[in-house]
Order: sequence, then C-alpha cells, then structure tokens
Amino acid sequence: MRIGLFGGSFNPIHVGHLIASRAVAEQLCLDRLYLIPASVPPHRTAKSLAAPEHRLAMLRLAVQGEPLFEISDFEIGRAGPSYTILTVEEFGRRLGAQAELFWLIGADSLPELAHWYEAQRLVDACQIVTAARPGHEPDLAQLRSRFSPEQVERLKAGILQTPRIDVSASEIRRRSGEGLSIRYLVPDAVADYITTHGLYKPQ
Ligand code: ATP
Repeated sequence: MRIGLFGGSFNPIHVGHLIASRAVAEQLCLDRLYLIPASVPPHRTAKSLAAPEHRLAMLRLAVQGEPLFEISDFEIGRAGPSYTILTVEEFGRRLGAQAELFWLIGADSLPELAHWYEAQRLVDACQIVTAARPGHEPDLAQLRSRFSPEQVERLKAGILQTPRIDVSASEIRRRSGEGLSIRYLVPDAVADYITTHGLYKPQ
C-alpha cells in the first residue's frame, strides 16, 4: 500500500490543496491519501484559525465522492501541538509495515522543514513529497546544513512537477473578510459552508 499523508491548517481547504493532492496521488500511484488538519500548527499563531469542527467539516465536504481521499481527525483529536513525526509514526503503527508513507508539502514549506521537530527522523520515517507552488521554487540550499547528503538526495527525489495553483488560505480569508467572492477558489460546498457559518468575518 502506498499511502499519502497531507497535513495542514486547512483554514480553509482550497483548490490549491486539492489539485496538488490529486496530482501527487496520480504521479505516485497512491492507494489512499489522508488529509490531516492540524489542531494547533506549531509554527503559526491560532489567530483567525477556524474551530477544528469547522475545518474538518469543510474538508469532508471538499472530498465528498472522491474515494481516494480520506479525512483524518488524528491531530485534531490529540492534545497539544501536532508534530508531523508523531503523526507519521502513528500512521505507520496503524497501517503496518507494508504501508509506504509519503508526506506531502508545498514548495513553500520545504525550506521550513529544517526547523521541524525531529526533522531528521521524519525524513527517514517517510518520503517527503514536495508539490509546486507559484512564487516558491523548491529550495534545498538551507537544508544541506541540517540533513545528510543522502537525506538531501531523498528530499530532491521527492520534488514533483505538479500544476501551479496560485491560491492560499490567507487570500481566501482576506477575500471572505472583505465580502469578496471566493467562488472557484474553494469547492462550492465549502464556499456555502463558510457563508452559512459566518466564518472568516472581520473580528
Ligand atoms: P495560509 O495561507 O493560511 O498560510 P495555506 O494556503 O498555505 O495557508 P495550509 O493549510 O497552511 O494552506 O497548507 C498546508 C500545506 O499545503 C502546506 O504544505 C502548503 O505548502 C501546501 N499548500 C497550500 N496551498 C498550496 C498550493 N496552492 N499549492 C501547493 N501546495 C499548497
């Protein structure tokens, strides 16, 4: 089994996440891809972060009818910050030794990887897969001092050519807060959910 794991704030999920997920799943012939919302992203503030129930609900709406994608509330259900290595190890335990694990990130997250908790152990525990993101060329330079040459090679091998979708959750929150349309940036059901629940309005 080839299993993709895609963690993030998903505040909210948008077409950038979904198109990257689809492209990675196809290129790597994944059997399943789990989208895993973080409870408290370790590197970010909790300001303007929608409640976990809302982010989970939007994820579920976004992947409705897509059998390849599954939503995991593993990190949401845990107390404390979500460290990727702990999530990867837990999925490894649950899925067994026959599961090959791929952790998906966008190119903007690649240089940050050096600062992730137990980053070296993480790079050995799964294959990090980097999807393209406009404005962020995958940059390995900052990683060379932190990782071994073999680990840098593994990270390099995980850089994929995927569609470049210039959409971010912060842009969607900004537009929503200003009363601008977010149609086509998120699935229709997610846009309706944001409107119905009054998410991302100015405080
Ligand atoms: P924000 O704008 O609030 O920082 P975001 O749009 O970057 O949010 P996150 O949920 O924080 O979304 O991102 C989760 C993961 O998805 C990260 O690894 C990020 O690099 C990746 N990602 C987000 N948007 C895109 C995109 N448009 N293309 C490729 N990867 C993306």
